[in-house]
Amino acid sequence: MLEITGLRKSFGPLEILKGVDLEIGKGDVVVILGPSGSGKTTLLRCINFLERADEGNAQIGGLQVDLRSASKKEVHSVRQKTAFVFQNYNLFNNKTAIENVAEGLITGRKIPKKKAWETARKALDKVGLSDKHDAFPSRLSGGQQQRVGIARAVALNPEIILFDEPTSALDPELVGEVLGVMRQIAAEGTTMLVVTHEMQFARDVANKVIFMDGGVVVESGTPDEIFGRPKEERTKQFLRRVL
Ligand code: ADP
Repeated sequence: MLEITGLRKSFGPLEILKGVDLEIGKGDVVVILGPSGSGKTTLLRCINFLERADEGNAQIGGLQVDLRSASKKEVHSVRQKTAFVFQNYNLFNNKTAIENVAEGLITGRKIPKKKAWETARKALDKVGLSDKHDAFPSRLSGGQQQRVGIARAVALNPEIILFDEPTSALDPELVGEVLGVMRQIAAEGTTMLVVTHEMQFARDVANKVIFMDGGVVVESGTPDEIFGRPKEERTKQFLRRVL
C-alpha cells in the first residue's frame, strides 16, 4: 500500500531525515514512536508533500513518485490517495462541522455538493458527532474538533490515513474519545500510519511499531517485539523513559 525508500530531508544545515525506508501493507496500523525531534512529523509531511524531501521515492497505492521532484499532477494524485489528520485539527473556523468535512470532497475530489454532504453526514455520524453537524469549531471541544478532523479524513475514503500526533494537543480527559474513534476505524480495516506518544494505543491497535531516533528507523517490529523484546539500546532507553 505504501513503500518509502531512501527518504532524506534537511532544514538548513540540519539533516532531519537521514535515509528512511518503510513499508505498510493494506489494512496495517503502523505506529511511529520516538523522542521529540527525531523526525517523525517531518516523515509524515514528506509523504503527503506538505514538505518536499531532498531525496526519496514512494509507492503509494500503486503510484510511483519521486518525493523530491514530483510534478504538481503527481502531488495531486498522491493527495487523492492519502488523508492527513493534524495535531491541531486544521479545521476552517468559519465553516460548520459538516462543511469542514464536505469541503475536501467538493473541491479536492470534485464530488457534487449533495453527494458530498451525504458522505460528510455519514462520516460525522461514524465518529459520534451526529448531533454536531451544524456546529462551528469554536463551539466544539478539542476532542470533538479532532473527531471532525478524523471524519474529514475518513470521508475521503483514502488508501491510507496519516495521523500526526492526533491527541497531543488535547486535555487528558479528551484523549480517550479520539483514540476510541481511531480504534474503531482501525478495526474496520483502514490503513493507518500514526505518529503518537500513546503507548497503550500502539500496543493494542498497531500491528507494526517503528522506533525512530535521530532521523533514522532504529528498529521496527510487532508491538510484542518492540515493547517486550527490544533489540537496540536506544529503543530500550526510550521505553524505560516513557513506560
Ligand atoms: P518529531 O515529530 O519526531 O518530534 P519533527 O519532525 O517535528 O520531529 O522535527 C524534527 C526536527 O526538525 C526538529 O528539530 C524541528 O525543529 C525541525 N524542523 C521541523 N520542521 C521544520 C521547519 N519547517 N523548519 C526548520 N526546522 C524544522
